[in-house]
Amino acid sequence: FFRSLEQAGILLNAPQIKAVRHGKGPLLTLAGAGCGKTTVLTSRTGYLIQVANVPAGSILLVTFTSKAAGEMKSRIAAIPGIRPAAARAVQARTFHSFALMLLRHYGMTEDIFGDTKAQHTIIKMIQRKHGLSDAFQPESLLSSLSAWKMEGKTADELPDTSREERETKQILLGYEAWKKERHKMDFDDILLHANRLLSDPHILRPLQQRFQYIMVDEFQDTNGLQYEIVRKLAAAHRNLMVVGDDDQTIYTFNGAKQEVILEFDKLYPGASVITLDINYRSDAHILGLGTEIIKHNKKRRYKRLVSAGKQGSQPLYATPSGVEEEASWIVGHLQEQIENGQHSYKDIAILHRTASSSRAIFEQLVLKDVPFIQHGAGPVFYDQSLVKPLMDHLRLSLNPRNFEAIPSTLGPLYISRDAGLLYLDQQEKQQPKKYPLIHFTRWEQLKPFQQEAVKERIKLIKLLKSMTPLAAIQEMRRQFYDSYMESGDPSIYTHYRETILETLDELEAAVKRFETVESFVAFADELTRRHKEMESLQAASDSDAVQLMTIHRAKGLEFPIVYLIGASEGILPHSSALTKEAPEDRKAALNTGASSTEVEEALLEEERRLAYVAVTRAKKQLYITSPASQHGKPAPVSRFLLEAFGIKDSQEQRGPVSERKAYTKDHSRSKEKEHSRSDRSSHQRMETVPVWSCTSSSCPAWIRQHPAQGTSTPSNKPPSCPLCKSA
Ligand code: ATP
Ligand code: MG
Repeated sequence: FFRSLEQAGILLNAPQIKAVRHGKGPLLTLAGAGCGKTTVLTSRTGYLIQVANVPAGSILLVTFTSKAAGEMKSRIAAIPGIRPAAARAVQARTFHSFALMLLRHYGMTEDIFGDTKAQHTIIKMIQRKHGLSDAFQPESLLSSLSAWKMEGKTADELPDTSREERETKQILLGYEAWKKERHKMDFDDILLHANRLLSDPHILRPLQQRFQYIMVDEFQDTNGLQYEIVRKLAAAHRNLMVVGDDDQTIYTFNGAKQEVILEFDKLYPGASVITLDINYRSDAHILGLGTEIIKHNKKRRYKRLVSAGKQGSQPLYATPSGVEEEASWIVGHLQEQIENGQHSYKDIAILHRTASSSRAIFEQLVLKDVPFIQHGAGPVFYDQSLVKPLMDHLRLSLNPRNFEAIPSTLGPLYISRDAGLLYLDQQEKQQPKKYPLIHFTRWEQLKPFQQEAVKERIKLIKLLKSMTPLAAIQEMRRQFYDSYMESGDPSIYTHYRETILETLDELEAAVKRFETVESFVAFADELTRRHKEMESLQAASDSDAVQLMTIHRAKGLEFPIVYLIGASEGILPHSSALTKEAPEDRKAALNTGASSTEVEEALLEEERRLAYVAVTRAKKQLYITSPASQHGKPAPVSRFLLEAFGIKDSQEQRGPVSERKAYTKDHSRSKEKEHSRSDRSSHQRMETVPVWSCTSSSCPAWIRQHPAQGTSTPSNKPPSCPLCKSA
């Protein structure tokens, strides 16, 4: 078996072979990133089928994403000697798809209700129906419900001591009832119901008999409910193999407990533990940086990884003045790589920490016609649910008869969308108005305060046109969001407050480039149009495209070239993890009894693990950029880099961005030992980046010049403007 694997290009090392040949009983395989954990799982599947004659259908492999499950299936199918029918019979599934399979098998016929937008609408509807305050965003309510259920608890058991808690509970119970009446289940219900089914011995026993071998990938991120499901299935035979890396626990906000993997051998006394320490993925310098980053975490099992690969090239760092410069540098740089002919687009991944931190890079990729796929992405930044209403108000200020922009104004005025649009349509047929919204001021269905609000709204729309886009956004932000943001209590639902603030800050930062509302709206519309075009092209062809995704999504994946963007304080580590700003729900998700210093430490360690996951996705080339400002605020270089470079007193060393130096270490197999300080002298200057800006006033979106605070290199030819193509 192992010889045939070798012929297929996988020469397993001794501990890997030991794990593959592990017979019965619990086994924990703990290893750093890229050490072949997933490889061991798929190889063991092949071994069980081919050598141990285990029926393929009695093997269950569980992982987190359907992409990973698909990847596992194809890796199993590629093992020499495995018949296609056997490969198909192996159950390689995500937790959700496995749970759903069970529910369907046992006759549950509920529809799956997974449309987030529809969920939000339901929540809003319930809020209105009960006359409850809308101070809580649907996202935050649903995410708190989700976290609650992942502990195995139901909405009936939600706390109801304070007024906020009671209101929240009422809304969420309403949401649960709504689903029940309509015979629907959301994704969390799938897990919850499956776990409940498994409490019935008549159901559990046959399943335990069927799935004789259970293997879980990325075990460090299983939450309480997922673990319960696996635990029950394996309880009779204990043939449970889990693989994972405590350094890659990045889903604690979703209920993942690092303790489960750290204490697996306590949960399963007598479990075998095999550690893998040769990294086959990343070249030595890249792995070295990962090691230097993660070693600053206290709560971890120590691992010493060595790279099986070459020294390879050093990771490179760039310190652009801001996200615009960062994005244009990266896109220019990656285009050069493609033009040199050594790489194709699909070799490249761009990783970012949060959704809103990808706004600028997204724009550059679209405007410069780089084929890319954004995984799990919503729409263009300016079309996102939070931003679109603001954009629509700007659109209305330019053209009050823009009927597509009108629906956005109705929600905030408490006018029902369908009824409102119908009324408007009827009125317009009789007598068109320059400002169609004016009809609402005489609609008898509206209460006087609503009619008043419509008048105010028209006044605002008229005003916006003459403002700078920044002032316009700030004015709307003040009117639409500030009171809401201030009214919210510091309850556990503040996680989304952070997201809202961040999105609005990012919008303000983005809009600063434009002089007029007109040029800004033209830019956003052009972006949407080009993005749509690009998407339809991609759908048509099996695309060779750059992968743009969050670090969370990149878990378990690998790419020859990785750009990690936003390696600056406030983004990575994210502001929500920094001291006082940490939202209560993130704190609560970690550990209820923890002291505040412990919580702070834990939040920061999770951010550090994210940095580690990001860095260790790269095989050959790694580029890290630290923009000096993020969401319009100054942002020093990420402490994770400074720590890794051996810069202790970060405040002192930060200085002007272009002056920072990167220290690198040698982590090749032969020279793998602690380095003395003198080794650090082999530093490397952070790269400077070229700046571009469009100075042509005939451009539809005249992007104002951004002086690059001394980091520009005049010798770099500025690329042409992506919109008007002028140099
Ligand atoms: P992660 O922690 O990121 O999930 P992992 O531990 O699951 O990583 P794998 O994805 O299994 O690691 O392996 C990383 C890379 O190393 C893959 O490209 C895999 O094919 C390769 N690899 C694993 N083991 C070997 C081996 N013994 N010889 C050659 N290549 C190997
Ligand atoms: Mg893996």
